[in-house]
Amino acid sequence: MSAKGKCLCGAVTFTADEVETHVHACHCSMCRNWTGGPLLAAQVGKIEFGGEDNIKTFRSSEWAERGFCSVCGSNLFYRMIEPNMYIVCTGSFEDAEQFSLGGEIYVDEKPKGYDFAGDHPRMTGEEFLKSIGMAP
Ligand SMILES: [Zn+2]
Ligand SMILES: [Zn+2]
Repeated sequence: MSAKGKCLCGAVTFTADEVETHVHACHCSMCRNWTGGPLLAAQVGKIEFGGEDNIKTFRSSEWAERGFCSVCGSNLFYRMIEPNMYIVCTGSFEDAEQFSLGGEIYVDEKPKGYDFAGDHPRMTGEEFLKSIGMAP
């Protein structure tokens, strides 16, 4: 499926295709530091941006960067550099109702002060890395 979205100020817009609607919540300390809370983001097959000049990226690790709007500061995406893969913040999409929580990752880094309800897989950071073939 295809879906549209934008940052808070509208300087960056996007149309994403092949949007995965079962999303992961990531509780890792980097995501929490970046977003101010857990990161809910959807993997997309393809994405085209409008106002691309307004996107700034921060290389947060050897293998990934994080993109945000340089005007309003909205977090937009996490991008795996190799292979080129965008995981887009669910809050940036026009229609938030299309998403459901498919799993939680880095539960070992989750602060004890909140919990997500629901019966879905919960993986530690190590279990998650193993599941995507990136175990240390
Ligand atoms: Zn903006
Ligand atoms: Zn994370």
